[in-house]
Amino acid sequence: MDMGITGKTALVAASSKGIGYASARQLAAEGARVIICARDADALSTAAETIRRESGAEVLALQADMSKAEDINKLFEEANDQFSGVDILVNNAGGPPPGYFMDMTDADWQTAHELTLMSAVRLTRLVLPGMRERRFGRIINITSVSVKQPIDHLLLSNSERLAVVGWAKTLSNQVATEGITINNVCPGWTRTARVASLLEARSQSEGISVEEAEKTISDTIPMRRLGTADELASLVVYLASGHAAYMTGTTIQVDGGLTAGYS
Ligand code: NAD
Repeated sequence: MDMGITGKTALVAASSKGIGYASARQLAAEGARVIICARDADALSTAAETIRRESGAEVLALQADMSKAEDINKLFEEANDQFSGVDILVNNAGGPPPGYFMDMTDADWQTAHELTLMSAVRLTRLVLPGMRERRFGRIINITSVSVKQPIDHLLLSNSERLAVVGWAKTLSNQVATEGITINNVCPGWTRTARVASLLEARSQSEGISVEEAEKTISDTIPMRRLGTADELASLVVYLASGHAAYMTGTTIQVDGGLTAGYS
């Protein structure tokens, strides 16, 4: 199936590993030029090399911290200079730290706000004028199943990611006649480096094996397994494609059935 992505430029934030990396890799395989970014230069150059080798795509790899406004401005400037415009934007960043309400200081809230909501707001503000001129744009925000039902110890994620959903839905209505769609994708338990280190930490603190730690999680999922980053990235590619032209303002989970409600 031709996804209509060939020749488009995709900027995927926080993409040297995990879900961002899988999304960039699949977009490149569909014929997009990709701009990837992360804070760690070594992981970034390894990711860029692999994507180039596998797909033959043009890949621009830029160091940037998504929680810093100046890094986001620089990232966009360099991407725009090199590729003149961004057609597909995948907003992604590391997750805010866990914790309960009384554990969180103003500084913790502010850091989570910059990382989760403001990174998406800032990047979108930069790419939107070009998308409007070209009357084409796809904006996909990586959020979490925490926007469908709160996760007890992830207070900052539950709060700041819902702000992303509110912002995205409002903006999607405002640009709906301009060929620009904005959708949110919600990973459930997805096997990435982040989850591997979380399982390792759980195995150490509870004195159980990593396999047992994983089983306590997969037992809560109707499919009885974790997802893969590629399974999540497949939805990102679909939403970026010409086939999803009539979908905007949605928030879709890829969670093996974990979310208990109807939507
Ligand atoms: P990951 O740790 O495997 O990869 C994160 C990527 O983002 C890496 O390339 C890392 O270098 C980069 N990154 C992190 N912080 C950054 C920053 N401040 N600036 C620039 N780059 C940064 O994580 P993942 O599992 O792929 O998660 C991606 C997003 O999805 C996160 O927001 C996470 O909270 C969310 N999420 C993940 C899961 C899951 O099970 N994996 C579930 C729900 C939500």
